[in-house]
Amino acid sequence: MDFRYTAEEEAFRQEVRDFFDKELPPGWLGVDPGPEEESRSQEYYEIGLRMWRKAGERNYLGLTWPKEYGGRGASVWMEAIFMQEAAYRGARVMDMAPASAELILQFGTEEQKKRFVVPIAEGQVKWATGMSEPNAGTDTFNIALKAVEESDCYVLNGQKIWTSNAHHADYLMVFTRTDPNNKHMGLTAVVVDAKSPGITMRQIAQPTGIPAFCEVFFDSVKVPKENVIGQKNGGMQLLMHAFGIERSYGLLTIHNARRYLDQLVQYCKETVIDGRPLCQDTLVRSKLAQLATEIEVCMNLGDELNWMAANGLPTVKSSAQIKILGGQTCQRVGNVGMQIMGLYGALDEDSKWAKIGGRIKHTYISSISFTLAGGTTETSKNHVAGKQGLGLPKQV
Ligand SMILES: Cc1cc2nc3c(=O)[nH]c(=O)nc-3n(C[C@H](O)[C@H](O)[C@H](O)COP(=O)(O)OP(=O)(O)OC[C@H]3O[C@@H](n4cnc5c(N)ncnc54)[C@H](O)[C@@H]3O)c2cc1C
Repeated sequence: MDFRYTAEEEAFRQEVRDFFDKELPPGWLGVDPGPEEESRSQEYYEIGLRMWRKAGERNYLGLTWPKEYGGRGASVWMEAIFMQEAAYRGARVMDMAPASAELILQFGTEEQKKRFVVPIAEGQVKWATGMSEPNAGTDTFNIALKAVEESDCYVLNGQKIWTSNAHHADYLMVFTRTDPNNKHMGLTAVVVDAKSPGITMRQIAQPTGIPAFCEVFFDSVKVPKENVIGQKNGGMQLLMHAFGIERSYGLLTIHNARRYLDQLVQYCKETVIDGRPLCQDTLVRSKLAQLATEIEVCMNLGDELNWMAANGLPTVKSSAQIKILGGQTCQRVGNVGMQIMGLYGALDEDSKWAKIGGRIKHTYISSISFTLAGGTTETSKNHVAGKQGLGLPKQV
């Protein structure tokens, strides 16, 4: 394996860096990789929307997708570079839309690819993903949201929960129950227009206070048959594919952690406590060096994962390992940041005494969710323990 990037790839990295330098607001300290921080305020939402549209105009949103569906037909490495830079800058160009586009490209009809994927690649629309329900989290196959087939449509009744940013979405990729008698082969994926009559949403605040989650209620919502993705009762195939995409969230968390580490290093260089720069404190240096080591291990795992994906090798184990380590590393960065900054670290972002814009307190709290979102650490560990990893038999 040779993980050096080519001259063309490095030139693309520079192009992406220049793009973020130009388009991000001055002094931007970065936000988490998911779509959640867009719900912080109207200002953050507008920044997110503007960045999303700009990235679409530059053709960055579907780098690996075929050109006929708005993509660039570029390599996995080019996509990796864009994700690394976006996550490192904490740029608001992340949305659930590309994950839905990947499902449609894999399982959708020609007409669906043109209708749904092209506007995503252009940054024109935002999407949310409706998998989880009050009784269907890790065990997604407990999904109960009922979809009853009629002559020209499906009628949906039930609810989803934890649907990130549904209140900002144009479309929802929703997993429904079409056969109550077959737990695994009784699910169907449908695209729902978020403005459909019969949909109501209730926002839920996250531990950070940001109301980014939604409960989405469906009351006899009609979904045209041409919005079924894949086969009726074929939702399991899409779910398996979606789980693979979600675990690559780990790749983003690593570069998110890298930004926080660099901000902490800068803080330690600039801050003098009791007449001594923090960066000369043995314990502080040791903690920062430990984090740098862990982040580099994660980055190497990331390159290995991308190499495997680029070469068509199975990625279940590697992406699960990155999901585990990436989330945990972000939590350790938040922890170390709080230890180094003491009470300054715990201040609210709008306090005049807050350091690094109060971001350390934010990540200390928000990174709790990194080991839950997109599948929990325990689920990922089960993948590492299973067929592609340790070869342990399935849990009963
Ligand atoms: C930030 C964030 C964003 C999210 N966005 C979305 C979204 O946009 N759309 C969406 O549909 N969902 C979303 N979710 C929900 C997420 O997918 C679920 O939280 C996750 O799948 C876990 O489900 P649960 O919360 O119901 O926990 P449960 O499944 O109830 O699990 C509770 C605990 O038990 C453990 N556990 C469960 N089963 C096992 C097992 N077999 N072996 C070992 N341990 C086990 C879990 O690991 C966990 O620690 C989001 C979650 C977060 C935190």
